[in-house]
Amino acid sequence: MRIPERLATGSPSFSFEFFPPKTDEGVANLFEALRDLVELEPSFVSVTYGAGGSTRARTVETVLRIKEETGVEPMAHIACIGHTRGEIAEVLDRLKAGGVENVLCLRGDPPAPQPGIAATPYATVNGFRFASELTAFVRAGKWGFSIGGACYPEGHPENPSRADDLAALQKKVSCGAQFLITQLYFDNAFYFDFVGRARAAGITVPIVPGIMPITNFDQIERFTRTCGATIPMRLRLELERRREDHEAILQLGVAHATVQCVELLERGAPGVHFFTLNRSRATRMILTALRSRS
Ligand code: FAD
Repeated sequence: MRIPERLATGSPSFSFEFFPPKTDEGVANLFEALRDLVELEPSFVSVTYGAGGSTRARTVETVLRIKEETGVEPMAHIACIGHTRGEIAEVLDRLKAGGVENVLCLRGDPPAPQPGIAATPYATVNGFRFASELTAFVRAGKWGFSIGGACYPEGHPENPSRADDLAALQKKVSCGAQFLITQLYFDNAFYFDFVGRARAAGITVPIVPGIMPITNFDQIERFTRTCGATIPMRLRLELERRREDHEAILQLGVAHATVQCVELLERGAPGVHFFTLNRSRATRMILTALRSRS
């Protein structure tokens, strides 16, 4: 099923994001987590793509294997930074040949600068500068994919102006993004404010909140530093008090994410996209709690 059609049904969509593992053991873990989560009947699952093409083959293989082995609708992320149009077309051809119908069009981030190594150019010759250009390319092509895009309730770290970031998002939607998935955030006020501003700017496509259950304090500090999301002070203090107790962190993270999801769904979010980090336990606990609401 194409994701925009699923989102249009009006019943909440629950979806899970995975990354393509590097090792055989990682692949085994991923498929174990998938088997566990597939029982929860997700609307779709997505597989990330290493910017610069570092996971190109693994992303495609994982997406195709998910489709074949689980029957769940997959969505492939594609990050265009550092790719030529020809390279992107090859990836899209492979996905199409495998029966994939949905892609998330992203720019990706350039690798962190390393001393003595020249920086990767943002746009290769015959490549793309922004996700909107990739979106337009996919839309104009022969593939017929449904297309999603990323958005940032707390703003994108490279763009200090929220108004400019929203204008860029508007462009991405006008180029063909049919739904949006947000970056992670821990305070729903950012989501509701962002959706309000997006609607006022004329963006009408579904905006699916991306939720990451906190399961490890150091890891979430790292992620939020990179992506520009903030951890509310009260939550941070509670996490710090449990820093060395992994089980307590997970329980707190699950409780926080569950309360976030309940409010999001009650106030009209079209569903929730869970960043699973290839583990099933926290997501399963949250979704079970959500589905047990009468
Ligand atoms: P863009 O939409 O191109 O925006 C990038 C920046 O450029 C923003 O600051 C924007 O305001 C600005 N901008 C956009 N268009 C213009 C314009 N025309 N003129 C001037 N400025 C402009 N990364 C990966 O590498 N692989 C993944 O699988 C992946 N999955 C993700 C999934 C989700 C749900 C999200 C939210 C992010 C994901 N990312 C992934 C991270 C993403 O690639 C980075 O956040 C990246 O920095 C921006 O990507 P984008 O697609 O939003 O880029």
